[in-house]
Amino acid sequence: MPLSPEQEAEIEAQRAERAETRRATVPALEEILYQPLPALDHGFVRVVDYMGDDGAVVQAARVSYGRGTRRVSEDQGLINYLMRHRHTTPFEMCEIKYHVKLPIFVARQWIRHRTANVNEYSARYSILDKEFYLPAPEHLAVQSQANRQGRGAVLGAEAAARVLALLRQDAEQCYAHYVEMLNEDEDGNAIDPARDGLARELARMNLPLNVYTQWYWKIDLHNLLHFLSLRADPHAQYEIRAYAEAMLATVERWVPMTYAAFADYRLGGAQLSAKGLAVVRRMLAGETVGQESSGLSKREWRELMAVLGREG
Ligand SMILES: Cc1cc2nc3c(=O)[nH]c(=O)nc-3n(C[C@H](O)[C@H](O)[C@H](O)COP(=O)(O)OP(=O)(O)OC[C@H]3O[C@@H](n4cnc5c(N)ncnc54)[C@H](O)[C@@H]3O)c2cc1C
Repeated sequence: MPLSPEQEAEIEAQRAERAETRRATVPALEEILYQPLPALDHGFVRVVDYMGDDGAVVQAARVSYGRGTRRVSEDQGLINYLMRHRHTTPFEMCEIKYHVKLPIFVARQWIRHRTANVNEYSARYSILDKEFYLPAPEHLAVQSQANRQGRGAVLGAEAAARVLALLRQDAEQCYAHYVEMLNEDEDGNAIDPARDGLARELARMNLPLNVYTQWYWKIDLHNLLHFLSLRADPHAQYEIRAYAEAMLATVERWVPMTYAAFADYRLGGAQLSAKGLAVVRRMLAGETVGQESSGLSKREWRELMAVLGREG
């Protein structure tokens, strides 16, 4: 349960508010504004604010006095051109702010993206909730042999049950010790008035990485797309990808033309090295090319064949 009834009521109250504005708004994004989109077992991502739309990208690219938009097909063509040729600054004219609830180990990957503005929930100031991420059994897998950073086949039922039991047990025990050290209940009252509790900033240090934290995360559209190109990619860890996929859906609502260009040129596209391109040219000329004669390493060859959808 990611939200308490009080939190849900706060969101509903905010959703009920209306403000008159001259600024561009996007009805499809307004529809889900403030609403949490679930990710993992207790997490969510929700849009709490945004600035600009596809029109703002076009307006900046044309350095226009008004909205700068023309026919839909012309605007889409311009956005495609900007995306294709990495003319990035017009996309920086749009901003979006998310509220994210995520396990600490996911936050450690996420925070590597330095181009956002972040404000995290303070575990020096507040007590962290008793919520920790436990993967669904289908996400418990063995170490991949092919990719040192990935996972392979799903664990058998017995092994998965044992792993889940250990994860749950460790998290429960660490959280119980956290509360014991704090000597505070969730309302800040002493559990045992006869003894001192440890400061929150110290008691938190034994909490495991699967405990949930929260932050507000604000970023411009260009850097958001960079984040999503890395974190919605199949090479990214499943847990951060779960958030990236929810965020992709918000981008599609917010800036549908930019999303279409991004899906085409980045998510669905591929980048070729000079050697890779030479292989494709030789194949198109009817030559049978093998890895040995390609000038590519075995790994590069496998990756190129995967991009081309061919057997290695
Ligand atoms: C699949 C995967 C595996 C990874 N594995 C590891 C790992 O094993 N170990 C590890 O430490 N990290 C790892 N990372 C993190 C990765 O190396 C990057 O730190 C992370 O993806 C952020 O990328 P970024 O720097 O491009 O993004 P951002 O910080 O969002 O920056 C966006 C762009 O802005 C520019 N920029 C931002 N700040 C600076 C700066 N200070 N100087 C110069 N240019 C800047 C760069 O052009 C950068 O590409 C991994 C990431 C992925 C997606």
